[in-house]
Amino acid sequence: MFEFKIIAECPRTRARAGEFTTPHGVVETPLFMPVGTQATVKAISPRELEEIGAGMILGNTYHLHLRPGSEIIRDAGGLHSFMGWHHPILTDSGGFQVFSLSSLRKVTGEGVEFRSHIDGSKRFMTPETSIDIQRDLGADIVMCFDECVSLPVEEEASRLAMERTLKWAERCAMRHSGGNQALFGIVQGALFEDQRIECSLHLAGIGFPGYAIGGLSVGESHDEMYRILDILEPVLPRAKPRYLMGVGLPENLVESVARGIDMFDCVLPTRNGRNGSLLTPTGRLNIKNAEYKDDFSPIVDGCGCYACQNFTRAYIRHLYISGEILAARLCSLHNLHFLVNLMKEARRAIIGGEFQEFLERTRGSLSPSILGCQTEGG
Ligand SMILES: [Zn+2]
Repeated sequence: MFEFKIIAECPRTRARAGEFTTPHGVVETPLFMPVGTQATVKAISPRELEEIGAGMILGNTYHLHLRPGSEIIRDAGGLHSFMGWHHPILTDSGGFQVFSLSSLRKVTGEGVEFRSHIDGSKRFMTPETSIDIQRDLGADIVMCFDECVSLPVEEEASRLAMERTLKWAERCAMRHSGGNQALFGIVQGALFEDQRIECSLHLAGIGFPGYAIGGLSVGESHDEMYRILDILEPVLPRAKPRYLMGVGLPENLVESVARGIDMFDCVLPTRNGRNGSLLTPTGRLNIKNAEYKDDFSPIVDGCGCYACQNFTRAYIRHLYISGEILAARLCSLHNLHFLVNLMKEARRAIIGGEFQEFLERTRGSLSPSILGCQTEGG
């Protein structure tokens, strides 16, 4: 039911174009996945996501477990029918949010005790309960429960978390029943190369249909992120999809594709969209700026999104300044379209044998940003 096929590779970088078959359809990689934290990509309907060309979206296990509760989503027929999205879905394990959002965490070998950030209720999540919740949610791709450390971290503390992540991965694999869900392993190990390699080799030994890289884009420099991706590329199984979690800056996406990454997710396009910060091929544009008050051009000339096809910067700025909901929707639509299409362009370049040129062109134009990106609420 799950098959990953590499259809083209760049001979000068590690970039590859693939097709990933899931029970809800085939997605083309490289792929950017919009994040639907609360079973909705904020302010965007599933029909609009289809129009943008989004192939797969992400749901957050931690949030959906606390509200409305995974039983309700199971009884609705799973996340696909609950939210009206009939294409592939990936759910994270809840680990990142347990470690970043909840209070009073107590981590043991068994699992994590924490308090809900919504009502303060005491909860306990283990590798087994994470897999059970994700089974109820019914996503196509589910993730191993992992321990994500924040940076900076001491080598020994990172090792403890990495080794715990490996033990938990074994337990997740035991609990996972297979069938119509594919379970991905998650590589941890902070910025320690030996830990990252050890974790990857161990996970590959267990054997997963895909591998995620966690614990990046949590405050390290871009060069540090690329260094870790460079050392992981030859270690991670080549024939399986690779997913870099929580990374969504355009320049990071393109550089990571060049390092053999196939899948990405990030809240950046919608969160920044709601703040009026827009992605363009030459960097960021803040629609609040007065210079756009009588600018009757689209956000990006030639952009195929609904916002750019129908409205001007002056109009969207007016909506934003007036506090109109449509401003957040149009800005989110444009940003999602931008990242989804950036990955489609990268894919076309790989297939067309022009990825190196694409990389150099985007490297020169996409301006570096100080904005980081993590999972929603992170
Ligand atoms: Zn646009």
